[in-house]
Amino acid sequence: MSWEELIRMKRGYLKLLDEVLASLPKSARGAGDRVIVLNPEILHESRRTIVTNFRGLAEKLNRDSSHLAKFIAKESGRPSSIEGERLIIQGRLSLEELRRLLELYVREFVKCSICGGLDTKITSERRLRFLVCEICGAKNPVRKL
Ligand SMILES: [Zn+2]
Repeated sequence: MSWEELIRMKRGYLKLLDEVLASLPKSARGAGDRVIVLNPEILHESRRTIVTNFRGLAEKLNRDSSHLAKFIAKESGRPSSIEGERLIIQGRLSLEELRRLLELYVREFVKCSICGGLDTKITSERRLRFLVCEICGAKNPVRKL
C-alpha cells in the first residue's frame, strides 16, 4: 500500500468518525447535557399578567403546574390562579421577570445539583420533600412551598 492510499484511507476514516459523532442522540453524550427550552408567552391585560402557555411550561419541566404556580406567587409576591392552560397573575410581571423566576425554579426544584441532570422528581417522606435525580441517584432536600 502506498502512502497516498494510506492517507486517503485515514481521511475517509476521520470523516466517518465525524459523521458518527454528529448523528449520536443527545442522551448518549452525557446526562448533564440535556437542555429544556422554555418559551413563556405572556399577555398584559389591564392589571393582570397572563401566561398563555403555562401548563405546557410545567409539563416540559415534568412538574405539577400548581407547584410551579405556587413558586411564582411566593417569589414574586403576587397572587395567581390557574385557568385551563393559562396562569393569571395579579399585577404586571415582565417577560424578563418571568424568565428569571423560571430559571430560579429550575435551579431549585428541577436541576440535580450533583450531575446537572434535568431528569428528576420530587418525592415526599413524612413532612420532608426531596429532589431525586433519576440519572445519578442523588437525593437532596428541597423546601416545601
Ligand atoms: Zn444527578
